[in-house]
Amino acid sequence: MKQRYPTKKIFVGKVAVGGDAPISVQSMTYSDTKNIEATVEQINRLHFAGCDIVRVAVPDMEDALALKAIKEQIAIPLVADIHFNYKLALEAAKWVDCIRFNPGNIGEKSRVKEIVKACRERNLPIRIGVNAGSLEKEFEQKYGATAQGMVESALYNIKFLEDLGFEDIKISLKASDVNRTVDAYRMLRPLVEYPFHLGVTEAGTIFHATIKSAIGLGALLLDGIGDTMRVSITGELEEEIKVAKAIIKDSGRSREGVNIISCPTCGRIEADLVSAVAQVEKRTAHIKAPLDISVMGCAVNAIGEAKHADVAIAYGKNAGLIMVKGEVVAKLPEDQLVDRFIDEVEKFANNLK
Ligand code: SF4
Repeated sequence: MKQRYPTKKIFVGKVAVGGDAPISVQSMTYSDTKNIEATVEQINRLHFAGCDIVRVAVPDMEDALALKAIKEQIAIPLVADIHFNYKLALEAAKWVDCIRFNPGNIGEKSRVKEIVKACRERNLPIRIGVNAGSLEKEFEQKYGATAQGMVESALYNIKFLEDLGFEDIKISLKASDVNRTVDAYRMLRPLVEYPFHLGVTEAGTIFHATIKSAIGLGALLLDGIGDTMRVSITGELEEEIKVAKAIIKDSGRSREGVNIISCPTCGRIEADLVSAVAQVEKRTAHIKAPLDISVMGCAVNAIGEAKHADVAIAYGKNAGLIMVKGEVVAKLPEDQLVDRFIDEVEKFANNLK
């Protein structure tokens, strides 16, 4: 597996991003931010689902003024997403853990300077969030909404901050399609040392967003690119976290949680494997220990897979075997197999603690 690109480590609140820090998962609320109760409720749901850093939109001053109360009621770092109005950034900087804004769309340099000063006073990093759909006019005209245009925009915004002596930066380069997104991140990676926030933006419903993000973010993670990420889904908040964590795990950048190996089923099967695997997935979702577990429909491949799995089931006719580290520990009727399997998985996970 490729090494991760060495990047500068920054801190968003207590969460390290970049360097040797684990790849963190981010998401964003969809409530009206000024509706404090709804926003806190969504943030706490995200936190419970495993989100490391949360972002809220701050389109007006009432939203900015709500950040203090929101921050007091949550336990994960908070990022304020600001466009155009530097006064919103100045208010937000009093309460949040990071500001996402692009210097190029704030206007006069003196205003950017004020935001940078406010961030520096509280050690807040800034995320430069380049989006193919909202490039600065000069880059849009020269390059179109291309990966090159995104990279040029990022370099321009980075220089803006560096000229002010500010280097506590992370960068995102998001487009709504996989190719531009991946090209842009790959193009910029060798040019700067700042950590990257990955994402394919406006990726669609859970089905499409999962595929786009798995291809795009997965490809980048395999290349060793990426320090934090958000999977954008038009759907429920928790799904973003679940998909992001799975992409990080399946690209080999994290070993947290169970890896389920299950056969696709075929005409040899003599058990209801589909519902067994669904149960196993649900009942092991809370386990953080890095386990490989295997659920196979017959003996053809089960024994081979079981040798590599920590805990395994091999189904047969009306019965099956439970194996731990390749050794058979029980032969049981089909209706008792999943319960015993879960017991063995829990036991194995507890022994790893
Ligand atoms: S493990 Fe058995 S049931 Fe499952 S796909 Fe392979 S041959 Fe078919």
